[in-house]
Amino acid sequence: MSGHLLPLGYAALLRWSDDPEVGGQRLEDAGAYLRSEELAREVAAALGASTGALLGEVGDGFKIAMTALDSGRYSVAAGCVGICDGCVDASVAYAKERRAFDQPIATFQGIQFMLADMAMAVHASRLVVHHAAALIDHGVSGTALEASAAKCLASDTAMKAATDAVQIFGGYGYTREFPVERFMRDAKITQIYEGTNQIQRVVIAQQLLGKA
Ligand SMILES: Cc1cc2nc3c(=O)[nH]c(=O)nc-3n(C[C@H](O)[C@H](O)[C@H](O)COP(=O)(O)OP(=O)(O)OC[C@H]3O[C@@H](n4cnc5c(N)ncnc54)[C@H](O)[C@@H]3O)c2cc1C
Repeated sequence: MSGHLLPLGYAALLRWSDDPEVGGQRLEDAGAYLRSEELAREVAAALGASTGALLGEVGDGFKIAMTALDSGRYSVAAGCVGICDGCVDASVAYAKERRAFDQPIATFQGIQFMLADMAMAVHASRLVVHHAAALIDHGVSGTALEASAAKCLASDTAMKAATDAVQIFGGYGYTREFPVERFMRDAKITQIYEGTNQIQRVVIAQQLLGKA
């Protein structure tokens, strides 16, 4: 299922991804892809034809979209923690297996410190995400700061963890033979979508300064 905000009177539309009435143009050919989910450019005319999909009234779309942001941002943050876990697991396993100078690279302090920094940051972002989740689960209102902080911290952490994981894998990390190259691409988009991390910082600052 996905939600859409159309500029035509800012209507909000809801559709099921297997809705046969709605067309989509896959973006993979344009080089834009996220391998864990299908990415498509919606055909607005086809969406408009699906009248049963209208949420609220025409003109309410922006307001409706804003109410969905906190849970959307927290969900992206939760996915980031998953990417982080993948980075730690893959890096630890590879560091124990890969040998250089007649020893596993895990014996080098330079590698150990990268693993330790990765684990610390991942632990911190997991706790921030759990905190935002608990607030949302308990129906607390006004969680914009916590949701934005979780999204921003977890996605920046995922990007750093993925970049360091590729570094630990060396040249192999840059190939598709190993998972970390994928983690790096998947982490990058989390800093961009559901509001870029610059926008998350704007939201957090507005909450702090009382301008929201
Ligand atoms: C794989 C993928 C999936 C997506 N899925 C969805 C989806 O499901 N639903 C959906 O609605 N959208 C989706 N998007 C769109 C995505 O949310 C937008 O790309 C994102 O919000 C950034 O908007 P933009 O690309 O227009 O960047 P722009 O707004 O053009 O921003 C460009 C740069 O300027 C910075 N910037 C802009 N304004 C400010 C400011 N006030 N202060 C500081 N810096 C600023 C941005 O942070 C960014 O670095 C998806 C995009 C991708 C690539």
